[in-house]
Amino acid sequence: MNVPLLDLKAQFLPIRTEIMAEVQAICDEQSFIMGSRVMAFEESVATYTGARYAIGCASGSDALLLSLMAMGVKAGDEVVTVPFTFFATAGAISRLGAKPVFVDIHPDTFNIDPQLIERAITSRTKAIMPVHLFGQCADMAAINEIAKRNNVYVIEDAAQAIGAGLQGKRAGVLGDTGCFSFFPTKNLGGFGDGGLITTNDKVLADSMAMLRVHGSQVRYLHEAVGINSRLDALQAAVLRIKLKYLDQWTEGRRKNAERYQYLFAKTKHVDCVTLPHTTPGNFHVYNQFTVRAPKRDALRAFLKEKGIGTEVYYPLPMHLQNCYRELGHQKRSFPLSEQAADEVMSLPIYAELTEAQQAYVVEMIAEFYKRA
Ligand SMILES: *Cc1c(COP(=O)(O)O)cnc(C)c1O
Repeated sequence: MNVPLLDLKAQFLPIRTEIMAEVQAICDEQSFIMGSRVMAFEESVATYTGARYAIGCASGSDALLLSLMAMGVKAGDEVVTVPFTFFATAGAISRLGAKPVFVDIHPDTFNIDPQLIERAITSRTKAIMPVHLFGQCADMAAINEIAKRNNVYVIEDAAQAIGAGLQGKRAGVLGDTGCFSFFPTKNLGGFGDGGLITTNDKVLADSMAMLRVHGSQVRYLHEAVGINSRLDALQAAVLRIKLKYLDQWTEGRRKNAERYQYLFAKTKHVDCVTLPHTTPGNFHVYNQFTVRAPKRDALRAFLKEKGIGTEVYYPLPMHLQNCYRELGHQKRSFPLSEQAADEVMSLPIYAELTEAQQAYVVEMIAEFYKRA
């Protein structure tokens, strides 16, 4: 049996006609950058997340960068974040000449451990940037409390968490800005790169809307040095259609996650695998279903042989990356991030996955540990 990690064709097929009509309309219009389709999509995401403002941009990486720029983060400043994340989180901070100050994760959720944040804050700290990793929100109540007390901003890296919720609120309104990615493998994926920032703060919203078009409000007049980071009409049109189905797809992912829990619980030889943990009040959207597995690399090789796709998000924490050598961290600086990098593995969880495919995945994992 073949079980890919993700099957975007299965998602596309039922909405093909609807999407192709929009693609055709845009081709006929030959109007590609920004425009009414982008505005309509921004409005839809604002409504969906509950945010007052939504600003489309070219990628999730740029959403983070634009947030930091609007907050005035510059060379010499510090931003607190996690080492166990996709590179863009730390990269956005460094791009502005600021320093990513890492704090370790909580082993249950893979998200920033709020208990460790306070001691990482200095007079140079401008913001805290938690990541809602794998689709589960970080402990935002604790983070916001620390941020308020220290007068720093909070930027949600919600790239993996559109639709995720915490205490009845959605990701994107849990900090000062919420940063989303529409990279094709995210829960709301475009037909290329795309991103968006949400906020309830008018000053930040205006600033980000200006910074994404080279700091210009009136054409050829520039108020600030911005960047070129626009969402194009094609992406906006595709994403606006897909947004209508997002909750349905999320339900599919959540049902599959529940089924994995059930299948693992009743299967012999797999009790050594640690399944994802959801903390109370969280609405997990499972961009990834990430487990900890002994002998992970051998298990992955075995599953690959059996036609099952898996991936390691992420194999090397930021503080051990070559480009961050100058920060002077060593191995064991952030032991829980390092341990996670060594142990984690993501299993197929997409909405169209069948029961038979899931049963096969668990059966093959059991087969591996039986032999091991
Ligand atoms: C995908 C991702 C990003 C970056 O998004 P792009 O659209 O690929 O630039 C940032 N942070 C996290 C946690 C991500 O998963």
